[in-house]
Amino acid sequence: MSLPAGRHGVPIRRGWPSFFGARPADDPADVRADVAFLGVPFDQGTNDCPGARFGPLALREASMRFQSVDGEGWLDAERGERLLRGVSMADVGDVDIRTVELEQNLGRITEAAAFLRSRCRLPVFVGGDHAVTLPLVRAFEDRSLTVVQFDAHQDYTDEKFEQRFSHDNHMRRVSELPFVKQIIQIGLRGALESTEPWEAARRDGVHIVTSQRIVSEGVERALADVWPDGDTYITIDIDVLDPAVATGTGFPEPGGIGYYQLKEALLLVAQRASIVAFDVCEVNPNYDSADVTARIAARLMLDLLGAIIPSRE
Ligand code: MN
Ligand code: MN
Repeated sequence: MSLPAGRHGVPIRRGWPSFFGARPADDPADVRADVAFLGVPFDQGTNDCPGARFGPLALREASMRFQSVDGEGWLDAERGERLLRGVSMADVGDVDIRTVELEQNLGRITEAAAFLRSRCRLPVFVGGDHAVTLPLVRAFEDRSLTVVQFDAHQDYTDEKFEQRFSHDNHMRRVSELPFVKQIIQIGLRGALESTEPWEAARRDGVHIVTSQRIVSEGVERALADVWPDGDTYITIDIDVLDPAVATGTGFPEPGGIGYYQLKEALLLVAQRASIVAFDVCEVNPNYDSADVTARIAARLMLDLLGAIIPSRE
């Protein structure tokens, strides 16, 4: 037989890709899982290089390389730990994003995120440009929330060219949500053309850890004061990574951290906080080389999931 049996063949060339090979939901209303994935193919908030709307598809394809074939989860070979054994996962598909309708699309994202929360223990959102984080966080208004942002950029601009909801504004808008109690930004760097956002963030009590500090001091020392308070939402802008290791993003920023440093930082935050959800944004396959960025992002999702939900015996 020339066609492989089961799921041991080349998965993305047969059937449809889904996050880590998770069961795609025929009807999202039927979903019951420990982890549920939602794609957010939205890049109307991008001010320069569009294409992050293809992120969910790229992440699905890249994550198919990490399919668990025997239900035993994954072995992190370097840490000697079993990840996600016996943890159920479901792929509920993508938010129904429409052309042009900006405000309605943001509303649809909030609605879909709120629905996903009711179907699983841990919702995972895959963007899309970073503007999606505001509507996603809005779906957690019943919690007192800490938001931990991994990003090269602060995304804390109040208004620019009369825009208030782009991928450069969303953290400022998140800071205005009454139920968001604390914001921690990790990996910031760059040459700022305006100091207002930086000063506003400091005034608002935002905790900032720069990429340079992580590189020179190491993750543990640089994050020694990072203790998220209460329920925590993590947002990962993949451009926090050095563009030399992750080219596939719309606004590459010189400098940055590597895979091991980001993984260690994510594991540390997961250990110290009660994570209610996370998102991964700004993976843009138009600029990716050999799908490396999508692959790293998928692996980091696996690492973080493994740190949040322990394997079952
Ligand atoms: Mn960024
Ligand atoms: Mn960002």
